[in-house]
Amino acid sequence: MGKINILDEILIRKIAAGEVVERPASVVKELLENSIDANATKIFVEVNEGGKSLIKVTDNGDGMDDNDALLAVERHTTSKLKDVKDLFNINSLGFRGEAIASMAVVSKLRLRTKQENTVGGFEVQVHGGKVKKAENVGCPKGTIVDIEELFYNVPARKKFLKDISVELRHIIDIVTRYALNYPEIFFRLNHNGKVLLNCPSTTNTFSNIVNIYGGSTSKKLVPINYSNGEIEVIGYISKPELTRADKSHQSIFINGRYIKNKIINEGIYEAYHTMLPIDRHPLYILNINIDPTKIDVNVHPTKKEIRLSKEREIRQMIRDAIIQGLNEIDLTATVGEDDSLMSPAGEIESKETQQPIIEKEEIKQESADYSVSQPQSQQRTKYDLVKDKQEYLGDLDTDEPEDDFVVIGQLNKTYILVEDNGGLMIVDQHVVEERHIYEMLMERYKDNSVQRQELLKPIILDLSPTDKTIITNNNQIFKELGFDIEEFGLDSFVVRSTPLIMGKQQNEEMILDIIDELDTSDTSVSLEIIKENIIIRMACRAALKAGSELTTPQMRDLIRKVIKMKDDQGNYTCPHGRPIVIKIPIKELEKKFKRA
Ligand code: ADP
Ligand code: MG
Repeated sequence: MGKINILDEILIRKIAAGEVVERPASVVKELLENSIDANATKIFVEVNEGGKSLIKVTDNGDGMDDNDALLAVERHTTSKLKDVKDLFNINSLGFRGEAIASMAVVSKLRLRTKQENTVGGFEVQVHGGKVKKAENVGCPKGTIVDIEELFYNVPARKKFLKDISVELRHIIDIVTRYALNYPEIFFRLNHNGKVLLNCPSTTNTFSNIVNIYGGSTSKKLVPINYSNGEIEVIGYISKPELTRADKSHQSIFINGRYIKNKIINEGIYEAYHTMLPIDRHPLYILNINIDPTKIDVNVHPTKKEIRLSKEREIRQMIRDAIIQGLNEIDLTATVGEDDSLMSPAGEIESKETQQPIIEKEEIKQESADYSVSQPQSQQRTKYDLVKDKQEYLGDLDTDEPEDDFVVIGQLNKTYILVEDNGGLMIVDQHVVEERHIYEMLMERYKDNSVQRQELLKPIILDLSPTDKTIITNNNQIFKELGFDIEEFGLDSFVVRSTPLIMGKQQNEEMILDIIDELDTSDTSVSLEIIKENIIIRMACRAALKAGSELTTPQMRDLIRKVIKMKDDQGNYTCPHGRPIVIKIPIKELEKKFKRA
């Protein structure tokens, strides 16, 4: 007997549905796209338990008539394509006619819809692919789709769903991206009855971004407005000074559709080139408008990837668009009109006045890289702070010990040159300190004694909805690391204390780094490893930077640490695995000078 079975209809449909509906966030994405295609100006998303028990999307769009409502829940039914030639000229977000049908197979779906000039509406209910109800009902103009108990009949899929908080983050992520790119649409997202995102309709794209990402982030964005007849690139990118540790704040839309595309990303990164620190990522929200016949959106069931024709040219154009934007920053910076991008909202103004000192000093430090006369007061203070701490730990001998080495001097304000045991030792000043702080923090963290400093002027953070949930869900971790953060009003957090080691600077950036670390490390990485990664980042931020001038006693002090490290750990690498010390024995020099 043969081994091949003919699969029954429902099983076939469940398998197909799996390609479109991966998780609650993919349902949200498809429903949002449908509402946008239906010309809605108001889209409300309500989810419960990370979308596992309920996803409900209500729009005020065109709605459907009774017949279409019944057709919509069937496979391969769409109003957006007629024949194959349309496939290469798609002007809507949907076109595959699979989304609603797929949801209907793997959940309990209820769809209510009404068009403008009809008396009543129509309701269809489908459970696990079987129509349970189809009748006239009263409802407002537009469409309401309820998806209850996603994957209730596909246990294998249900098992693979992540924790509520992770699923919710994906949902917030997708709603946020659409809210960013469609300012004229009123978006609202509720979770378990609580409002997470509220973006009323506006014609001002920038104030829309301020509403979503907060004032401090938005202030560091530059507008992009590029067009060359073939392609149009519109949106905002971050100044090089504003970067994140991951790519979660990057959104690209092509003809209004949120997509991921390697070529376009490459073009953007090429434009920033060396302006980006290693392992840091810019923020961007870009809408690229291009002739729909130049792209193929039909390469992925969830339509999140697209294929571009003339890839190389497009990459080049994107690069030009970004470079144009970045060039404009230099101009504004020299003219001192850095604030020209600020929205007039008073709320942001006040935030700016809260931290002018730190920001000015940061700028000074950057430009003071090569000038000898500028004392690096800020960094000196931080360095002293570290020293205090070492004294506290009993690390530093109070009477000057006899050293086996001689400090020759500092090279390029980055490397300390030392004569040691008949050789030349070159030490990276940042990396030594980084390693030292890392060890101290790990130790303190393990016995729950990370020292904190109360802030006289608390830092106010206003963050994107994703960032907010991450802080709320991980408040304990922040506490253990020395950050006391409390909710403050509806949209903000207040930071009341920070780890002593961090000094006054970079605390806001550090908090964002921690958020990124918690965000990227999903469930497969253990919490201990995540925390260690965070400590590595804290050490890197707190450590003395390359470019800081050091006195001989400071250098001597660092070299003693290096030697002690070698004695304790038997190695010379930083927590990232970079070397701390390079040694050139005299013998090597003799060989080079042909003395030997
Ligand atoms: P697609 O969007 O690819 O056409 P869907 O399965 O998502 O496929 O939707 C099927 C059809 O149902 C759409 O083509 C559209 O005509 C209709 N539809 C779905 N959602 C809505 C909505 N929110 N408002 C009006 N019509 C809708
Ligand atoms: Mg659709």
